[in-house]
Order: sequence, then structure tokens, then C-alpha cells
Amino acid sequence: MSKRIVIVGAGIGGLTLAIDLQRRGIDVDIYEQTSVLREVGAAVALSANSTRFYEGHFGLAEQLGEKWAEVDGLIFRDGRTGKEVARLSSAQEYRRRYGAPYIGIHRADLQAILFDALDPSSLHLSKRLTAIDDTGSAARLTFEDGDDTEADLVIGADGARSLTRRLLLGYDDARYSGCTAARGIVAPALLPSLPDPAAIQFWMGPGGHLLHYPIGNGDQNFFLVKRESMPWADKGWVVPAQDGQHITPFADWAPPVVEMISAVPVVEQWALFYRPPLTRWSAGRVTLLGDAAHATVPHHGQGANQSIEDAIVLADLLSGTTDWDCARTQYERRRRFRTRKVTDAAITVGELLHLPDGPRADERNARLAAPDAFDRHLDWIHSFRADEQIPAGPVVAS
Ligand SMILES: Cc1cc2nc3c(=O)[nH]c(=O)nc-3n(C[C@H](O)[C@H](O)[C@H](O)COP(=O)(O)OP(=O)(O)OC[C@H]3O[C@@H](n4cnc5c(N)ncnc54)[C@H](O)[C@@H]3O)c2cc1C
Repeated sequence: MSKRIVIVGAGIGGLTLAIDLQRRGIDVDIYEQTSVLREVGAAVALSANSTRFYEGHFGLAEQLGEKWAEVDGLIFRDGRTGKEVARLSSAQEYRRRYGAPYIGIHRADLQAILFDALDPSSLHLSKRLTAIDDTGSAARLTFEDGDDTEADLVIGADGARSLTRRLLLGYDDARYSGCTAARGIVAPALLPSLPDPAAIQFWMGPGGHLLHYPIGNGDQNFFLVKRESMPWADKGWVVPAQDGQHITPFADWAPPVVEMISAVPVVEQWALFYRPPLTRWSAGRVTLLGDAAHATVPHHGQGANQSIEDAIVLADLLSGTTDWDCARTQYERRRRFRTRKVTDAAITVGELLHLPDGPRADERNARLAAPDAFDRHLDWIHSFRADEQIPAGPVVAS
């Protein structure tokens, strides 16, 4: 009898893994807690290190091309004056260099396209995992509705608030990053003063930043981050926002910033959490993937990209052998160093974006404006080929 893989979570990482396993003829089922596969009100930026797989391996260039916007340049600005600090890589240069695009897409569109690429009978909705009983010979998963199922291998792709991780560790290790965020999607007609609407832009300033980029229909997806002075007292990761509270700290920033963050109602405040690195991503018959393994702060825009890289590597390894324990060991070795480097860098980027005026901010701006800025600071992320990577990275004692 063939062995069976169950993926918990039909987010970006879980769907990508399922599609790639099915492409390779491996039996897999996904169990997702939500009743409908959709994430409303938010977009995601994906870079060449992941879009290359969707365009190439998965053959989804046409479907995605209709829904995503290729960003034309990465621009850094002073958030208060609006002055341009640096302008890196046009869309054309980027594609020429990496062979795949840097894009913005609505999450609901991405999920719908990935779903269409999946065998629909393998997706089980309204299945919220509540427990895993790993007997050694099999893992039994129990869901909130009382249903259960058995698997030879469980992949916990259940996101930053992963239950799978908590079951594996025995406790919740989430860390508050000291930042909160507001996000929204704005029609271009509401942004008359926005310069370079086709670019992905960071507006930097003491204690916060605004990031925005276009998605396929021309709307702008924005993400406003504020560095807080107090620990996060609320237990929730997402709490109701008070009317206009996100605008006040940025009210004297440049007009395009104020225009964008005031254009649509913001009803939620997000506390940004991350997870400390684990020495092992697997225990018994359970292995973690994506945010469940290495949730990070979103300041490098790499969380989803890393989930996709994980999925490509894990699918390749699982399909190449019948020894899945060996495949999982290789997976951890190949992914741990890369994801650790990216998650660490994301924390550093947040600090740099939020520097107060002074010599360190001047130095940051000079480094960003240098002609080799992209090569020095970003190429290592975007040029990465998860499928070609030589098994490497320091071996961490288990
Ligand atoms: C505000 C914000 C902006 C971001 N912007 C970017 C960006 O531009 N680019 C980028 O690369 N990354 C970005 N990220 C990070 C990115 O969203 C995540 O890293 C990515 O979604 C992780 O994918 P995943 O598949 O691991 O988890 P998720 O996409 O979170 O998917 C997890 C899935 O598991 C399901 N699930 C959870 N618990 C259970 C359970 N008990 N039983 C069954 N199902 C369950 C969930 O419903 C969900 O569908 C951003 C994050 C935030 C918060």
C-alpha cells in the first residue's frame, strides 16, 4: 500500500507543496480549518526566488500573469519629506537578471489559481486540527468536528500560529517583535499624489514605515508598521483597531503617505510576532513547513517566499526516495540555514527602516543609494535557487 502524506493548512506553503507532490505522483491530502479557501483584504509580494517555480515548474505563468502586477522598481523614500533615497532595479532589469518577476498579487487570486492546479478531491475544508496522536507506526489527526484521519507523514503548514508546532514543542514560543501594523488595499483614483505607482516603495522614518506595491488590478496594497514603546498586552495577534488610530503617528508624514493610509477604513491592528529558530523541524511523523517552522516579521517581504522555497525542496526530496526520514533530515539541513538568515535579516531591516535621524540613518541612506546596493544587500535573497541548492548549511546538533 502506498504511503500517505497529510498536510495541515492550505495556505501558500501547504498548497504549493501539495501541487508539487501531486505533480510527482505522490498521494497527499490537505486539511484546512476555514470553510472557504480565501484570504480577504490582503496581498502578497513574491520575488524571483519563488515566482520562478510558479512560472516554470508549475506552468502557471498565464493564469498568474492576468492577476499579478510586475513591480517596476524598488524605491526607498524619506517618509516625512517624500524625497527619494534610492531606486533599484526596474521590472525589465529584474526579469532579465533573475529570469522571473517580482510581483504583487491579491492573496485570494493566488489561492484560487493554486487551488485550480490541485486535485480538488485532495482538499478537505472546515477541518480544524485539534490533536495528533503519533503512535510510531502512524499519526492519527483529530479535527474539531470529531472527524479523524491517519497518515504516514504529517506536514504542519498551519502558519505562524501553528498548532502543529505547539504540539511538537509542547509550548507556544511566539515572540512579539515590538511592532504593530495596519493594512489595506486602495484604488489608484484615491491616490492622486502618489509618485511611481508601479513600483514597490518603502517610506522610512523614525519609529515606522509604509510599504506598498501594486497588484494585478492596479490597486495599491499597503502595509503600515509602527514601532511601539510598550510590550503587547493583548493576547490576540489581530485586534479591532480604533477609528483612525493608525494615522495619528504618521499625520505629519509626506502627503502621499497620509493620503494612502487615510483612503480606506482600517478595522484591524496586527501585532507582529515571530518564532525563534528551532534546532529540529521534525519529531516522530511530523515535520514543519513555512511559517510554522520559521515565522518571521514581514519587513523583507519573504515569509511566503520562504514557504514556497521550503515546499519545492521538500517535494523534491520526498519524491526522490522511499526513505522519508532521510528526506526530512536533508530538508532540514537544506532549509535551516537559509531561513535563519532571512528571518534574522528581516528583524535587522525593521530596525534600519525605523532609525531616528542621525548618523546611522545617514549611513543607511548612503548605502541604499550606492550603485551596487541591490547586489550587496538583496541579490542573495532574489537570486536563490531552492531547486539547485547544494545540500549545505551548518549542521546543527539535534
Ligand atoms: C501583514 C503581513 C504582510 C505580509 N507580506 C508578505 C509579503 O509581501 N511577501 C511574503 O513573502 N510574505 C509576506 N508575509 C508573510 C506571509 O503571509 C507568510 O509568511 C505566509 O503566508 C506563510 O505561508 P504558510 O503557508 O506557512 O502559512 P499561511 O499562509 O498562514 O497558511 C496557514 C494555513 O493553515 C491554516 N490553519 C491554521 N491552523 C490550522 C488548524 N489547526 N487546522 C487546519 N488548518 C489550520 C490556516 O487557516 C491557513 O490557511 C506577510 C505577513 C503579514 C502578517
